[in-house]
Amino acid sequence: MKFPEKGINKEKVMDMLRAFQEKDKAWKDAKAFGYVYQAGDEILEVVKEAFNLYFSANALNPTVFESLRQMETEVVAMAADLLHGNEATVGSMTSGGTESILMAVKTAREWARKKDPGIFEPEIIIPDSAHPAFHKACHYFNLAAVVVPVGPDFKAVPAAMEQAITSNTVLIVGSAPSFPQGVVDPIEEIAAIAKKHDLLCHVDSCVGGFMLPFWVELGAPIPAFDFAVDGVTSISADIHKYGYAAKGASVILYKNAELRKAQYYVYANWSGGIYASPSMAGTRPGGAIAAAWAALKFMGKDGYLEKAKSVKKTTEYLMKDINAIPELKILGKPDMSVFSFASDTLDVYEIGDEMGLMGWHLDRQQLPPSLHMTITPAHEEVFEQFLVDLHKAVEKAKKYSTHKLSKQVQINSVKGLKKILPKKIFGKFQEVAAKHSPVGGSRSAAMYGLMGELQGTGNLDEMVKEFLHQLMTEK
Ligand SMILES: *Cc1c(COP(=O)(O)O)cnc(C)c1O
Repeated sequence: MKFPEKGINKEKVMDMLRAFQEKDKAWKDAKAFGYVYQAGDEILEVVKEAFNLYFSANALNPTVFESLRQMETEVVAMAADLLHGNEATVGSMTSGGTESILMAVKTAREWARKKDPGIFEPEIIIPDSAHPAFHKACHYFNLAAVVVPVGPDFKAVPAAMEQAITSNTVLIVGSAPSFPQGVVDPIEEIAAIAKKHDLLCHVDSCVGGFMLPFWVELGAPIPAFDFAVDGVTSISADIHKYGYAAKGASVILYKNAELRKAQYYVYANWSGGIYASPSMAGTRPGGAIAAAWAALKFMGKDGYLEKAKSVKKTTEYLMKDINAIPELKILGKPDMSVFSFASDTLDVYEIGDEMGLMGWHLDRQQLPPSLHMTITPAHEEVFEQFLVDLHKAVEKAKKYSTHKLSKQVQINSVKGLKKILPKKIFGKFQEVAAKHSPVGGSRSAAMYGLMGELQGTGNLDEMVKEFLHQLMTEK
């Protein structure tokens, strides 16, 4: 597309945008289980108005927009209070969970450098269920990620993590809960190990930070996971998830100010002035900060508790019914409203595709193959229909398993091709991926089957990058 020669009127622009939105219908109708955290029109309107009010404000320089500085510090303080921080607890707002995690890892690197200048190749220890943002952080900031397998319950194994500690270790990580199976890692044990070895300990509570405290209140048996645990030095929690704020809002909290200083960046020799910035971004959107502040204030503990009740009920109902389908099983014992299910007898990706044909979007996971669900208040209205359709999808997938053979042949031929003609596989993958992409087509089962086969070959990364390139190129 060429740069427009002439502008068009507002009505036309808005009509086009609304037409675009039709493509994302599943999210609007609460037929998707992730990405969007809907909690009703009331909170939505508040967040929108707050965002618009601060649409142009910029939190780059905290001395310019006094109101943003105040709101950010108040958001951080409210989050710290919810997660059992004390007077010493500080933090920053960031654009999302990824940035919060990037900052926690960067902080650990700086902290270690200061404390022990002999650490040249810093390492972090993470369970293999940890969010890819930790790998991204290591990639960006030149650390090594030491990945420790989770146990059969999908939880981090503290003893194994302790064994992985070396003189280069700077940080140990647990999730509360993990994204793939929604289980809370044994944070108390992990933090105790960190303390014993004088290491930092980060809790990734990106998805749980604004939900777990309310499940605790509702009587769920959640093990301690926040600053109430001795040894926890930082926590990430996303307000744009179960805080129901506008996208672009997360907090990274630290046990004390010394740690947060290790996150800050300063360049004092610029002709443009002394440049100081708390996080990754330069310009920081004021709208996201105002919307997050407004969400917390509008909802309050009682508001979040109400929503948590609805989510808990829906989650428990869904999990019970899914577990009652003989072909399906929930993975692990999810602690919150995030879970996944797999099948020992059926191709679970086929079930995902069948659900897709009925308008539902479920994220595909691997290792093991499973479908992922994040439950929000909006799902209270649709879960019964979801279950009806899921039963249908399972019946359809049963028929597909007879076609499995032909797919296996396809996969085998690709495997063979990969060995003989490693370059040609590129084209093949693109072809298959494009045809079966969740974005472009309806059936992704074949693509995920292929990706699983190619796991760990190194070629996979390049192929996925090529795929991403294709996807992000205007056609
Ligand atoms: C969502 C999530 C992240 C990443 O957050 P983004 O806002 O997507 O960058 C990290 N960890 C967990 C457990 C998450 O659920």
